[in-house]
Amino acid sequence: MANNTNAGVITCKAAAAWKPSEPLVVEEICVEPPKSTEVRIKMLAASMCHTDILLWKGFFPLYPRIPGHEGAGVIESVGEKVANLKVGDTVMPLSIGQCGECSNCATGKTNICFKYPFGISGLMPDGTSRMSAKGQKLYHMFTCSTWSEYTVVDSNFVVKVDPRIPLPHASLLTCGFLTGYGAPWRESRVEKGSTVAVIGLGAVGLGAVSASRILGASKIIGIDVNELKREKATVFGVTEFINPKHSDKTVSQLIQEATGGLGVDCCIECTGVSSLLNEAIASTKVGIGEVVLIGAGEKEKVEISYIPLMLGRSVKGTTLGGVRIHSDLPKIVEKCINKEIDLDELITHEVSLVDVNKGFMEYMNQPDCVKVSVKF
Ligand SMILES: [Zn+2]
Ligand SMILES: [Zn+2]
Repeated sequence: MANNTNAGVITCKAAAAWKPSEPLVVEEICVEPPKSTEVRIKMLAASMCHTDILLWKGFFPLYPRIPGHEGAGVIESVGEKVANLKVGDTVMPLSIGQCGECSNCATGKTNICFKYPFGISGLMPDGTSRMSAKGQKLYHMFTCSTWSEYTVVDSNFVVKVDPRIPLPHASLLTCGFLTGYGAPWRESRVEKGSTVAVIGLGAVGLGAVSASRILGASKIIGIDVNELKREKATVFGVTEFINPKHSDKTVSQLIQEATGGLGVDCCIECTGVSSLLNEAIASTKVGIGEVVLIGAGEKEKVEISYIPLMLGRSVKGTTLGGVRIHSDLPKIVEKCINKEIDLDELITHEVSLVDVNKGFMEYMNQPDCVKVSVKF
């Protein structure tokens, strides 16, 4: 297919958030053609992440806005300076880029790129929006806005994906599961024989479990207060499930006990419950224990106890699990295609775009919900 650089404005359906905590309005919006370094994507799959709910409730209050930051689709048109992508390519939009050249990218140690950082302005990198409704500008969500039939994304935040992966699965690899997957792989040093604990077994936690399993961890302890997570966690690779509600002991005591008093090499905290950070630290092995902190904190600040940290443990925060979108992400896609990871197990609910409110106001609150897939 030839590149179509002269595309016009598209009118299409999208879910718009006009005010915090009010139901989204599925309505017609206008999506402008891509500028020189951008692509316009026809969305074919999307999914829901808890960050969507946080933003819907008014975290980063930018309205009106098109939410959604997990998705996959096919390129409909490209800007004239886009060299690496073409019309018809199957792609995933990401909320972080990888320039490969800045001082951070050059180290190969992090995915926090100085040139294409995580975008929280709700606008394209040039400070403008490509979407409007009723003549009013719409903010984007991060760099993506996937709950729309069409979206415009800067090409530096787009990854071409092997079309053999089902697109609802590709969508799951753009935030939640990906973040969990990267934690033991890119942020910690989990290797063959490591012991790992994962606190919180939603999609993020199950990503961390999957990567730990594939890296060869000998013990993967899954912790969740929801008994319904036990079975699914086992499918993904948890070797021991602990429900702290069934005990008077603290989470760290339970993990210490399950490791013969040594603690785990790596603990991945996915809940964001502030009090669990100190528990996560105390659950790791002195001298080498590492905590990867993923859950967005329920509080802005948390007090950390000195002594457990001074015994040679460390805490590392992460964005998207430290996964570099061009160097690392295609390797995870490959594992999904060859069924080392079965993402079908992650999708517990499905909605069409018109029923998007049902998805995140109803389904995501159900105790058996892991992921809600959005169909177009
Ligand atoms: Zn960079
Ligand atoms: Zn997310």
